[in-house]
Amino acid sequence: MTATSSAVSFVQPQTLDNDKAMRLKRLMDDFKALDTHALLEKVIAEEFSGKIAVSSSFGAEAAVLLKLVSEVDKATPILFIDTGHLFEETRQYKDVLAEALGLTNILTLQPEKIHLENADKDATLYERDTDYCCHIRKVLPFEKALGPYEAWISGRKRFQNSERAALESIELDVDGRFKINPLYNWDYDTVIAQFKEMNLPRHSLVDKGYPSIGCGPCTRAVKEGEDQRAGRWAGQEKTECGIHKSPAYEAIYI
Ligand code: SF4
Repeated sequence: MTATSSAVSFVQPQTLDNDKAMRLKRLMDDFKALDTHALLEKVIAEEFSGKIAVSSSFGAEAAVLLKLVSEVDKATPILFIDTGHLFEETRQYKDVLAEALGLTNILTLQPEKIHLENADKDATLYERDTDYCCHIRKVLPFEKALGPYEAWISGRKRFQNSERAALESIELDVDGRFKINPLYNWDYDTVIAQFKEMNLPRHSLVDKGYPSIGCGPCTRAVKEGEDQRAGRWAGQEKTECGIHKSPAYEAIYI
């Protein structure tokens, strides 16, 4: 809960808008000593006031971030992508958390009919091409919804898998939008401890062996010793849905 950002030295990017690169450096410098709650207050109520949203899958760990956001502003826009293939338990959990935390601005995003008609009429595209399925069912609706915002908040954490091990508290996406990862350096024990301390309701699939929960056809329960996201697209090289793009800058962390 009181984890702080690590020290950072910044390498001037070659390809990025210079103003945004400098703003990123300032944010990293100004906010690096803040704890998670203070960082959320700064970005929601000051730096990006009215121009920031939260992305939430209403998955296994979502409640902690949503609780912290609700303590700053319950009307913060929460972008929830309903791909059409979600577990029904996830939709129910969204309603439970909205009620429990008093969230007043959950925006449910859905794939566009034209994309489904053109590429996934029988809703089995995930069997043939998971990247394209995620593209039309997650990435495109999400990119469209992000249009009005300068920044968005993600619940990603370093411990979740090896590809997230170098995650930092603030990034700049390739599309020039700031991405805030307030839980980036939380470990699993901290998440669990906060769940208990905050007395948060849990997603009903967690007790059935799902520590990470995406769409029904692409999520299985994990086995003992597997990493948290091993049940996502199991048996494929795919590890992310595509809404998390590479940062647009080069940085060296010391
Ligand atoms: S997770 Fe699976 S079902 Fe969901 S959008 Fe991606 S490929 Fe399709």
